[in-house]
Formats: sequence, structure tokens, C-alpha cells
Amino acid sequence: MRIVFLGAPGSGKGTQAQRLIERHGIPQISTGDLLRAHVREGTELGRRAKSVMDAGQLVDDATILGMVRARLAEPDAVRGFILDGFPRTIPQAEGLSTMLAEVGKPLDAVILFDVDPALLVKRISGRRSCQDCGRVFNVHTAPVPVPPPCNGQCPAPRLIQRPDDAEETVTKRLGVYEAQTAPLVGFYKERGLLKTVDADASLAEVTARVEAALQRGA
Ligand code: AMP
Repeated sequence: MRIVFLGAPGSGKGTQAQRLIERHGIPQISTGDLLRAHVREGTELGRRAKSVMDAGQLVDDATILGMVRARLAEPDAVRGFILDGFPRTIPQAEGLSTMLAEVGKPLDAVILFDVDPALLVKRISGRRSCQDCGRVFNVHTAPVPVPPPCNGQCPAPRLIQRPDDAEETVTKRLGVYEAQTAPLVGFYKERGLLKTVDADASLAEVTARVEAALQRGA
């Protein structure tokens, strides 16, 4: 299954991708996570991307497309994938179509996570992740359970807030989403791939809605 998760920052794409990958046996490919790994490792790409990310802007399309092409060539992506946070611009969406057409494996569906924009700033500024295993929590909606399981990887998650999740940057990122990413809704609707999910619900309910959307035809 080859799927794109589309939605504003904080709409729950990453959390839902984490829940679905195990059931479907396919990887979550998050360009934000790939970029953060480059920043942590201090690669040349990471050094270039950091200031752009911290400012809440988008990294250039050529860099992102090169990174995604390399990731899709890895063996675990052969059976499918959930793309999370990519594509974010029309040129990225066109680049993705070309890449997938070259291997004769087009997208199966694009899930749009529809949420009330007024809730997004609160959701994102409450987001925390474990700096060891990357698992995401939310001080408002998904606090760390006691005792914390953390995928069984970390006995006690050490929670950090992403620098770009601070409230001022979040507002900027939402503006960037409206200007550059929201046009993808029309792009994928025209191609008959878009399935909209009302994502203002509990984690389990949204998962059920995503699964149902994947079952129904476009
Ligand atoms: P995310 O974790 O998806 O919210 O991404 C964090 C930041 O990484 C974004 O605010 C952008 O600066 C950058 N980024 C992630 N994915 C992309 C993309 N597909 N295109 C451009 N920039 C991206």
C-alpha cells in the first residue's frame, strides 16, 4: 500500500502513521524525521536545513526530492509506505508522481487529516517527544502513561520539545501550510486519490476512520 498522509502541522499524521505501520507492515517515511536525523548527525544537508526548519519555512524541493528518492530505494519500502509530511508543495507532488511512475508503482491513496485550525496551535505546542526513541506524546491529549512504555525501548522517556514547536514558529508553519501545502488538496482530488478524514477525535477513533477510508474507493 502506497499512501500519503496530508494535513496541517499538528493534525495527527505522524501519530497515526506510527499506529498504522505495524498493522500494515510498511514503513512510515517522514521527511521531518529524516531532516532531523541529518541535523543530529551534522551532515552538510542537516547544516543547510537547520536554519530553514527553525524558522518554520520549507526546505527546498530539490533537496527534499533527492532525500525521498534515496529513502524509497531502501528495501523496506518495496511493499509500500506511508509518506508523512511529504509532499508539501506542488513541485514535490509532481516529482513524487514521476518517481513512482518510473517504477510503475503509483500512489493508492492520499488521506487528508481534517482538523479545526483553531485547535492546532494548542496541539502542537503541547507536543513532546522522547529524545531516545522518538515516540511522540502530548501534554494535553496523550500524556506519558505511568509506568511509561515508550515502545518498550526506553524505561523512562526523556521528553523534549522540538525547537520549531514553540508557539511563535507554529503560527508561521501554519501560514506556510496554507500557502504552499493546502493546494495539494485540489491536486490529489483531481486525480481521484483524496480521502478526507475528520481528525478531531480520539486517537483510536481517528485510526478507525483512516482504516475505513483506506477500504473505500476513491
Ligand atoms: P515536520 O516534522 O513534518 O513538521 O517537519 C519539520 C520541518 O522540516 C518543516 O517545518 C520544514 O522546515 C521541514 N520539512 C519537512 N518535510 C518537508 C518537506 N516535504 N518539504 C520541505 N520542508 C520540509
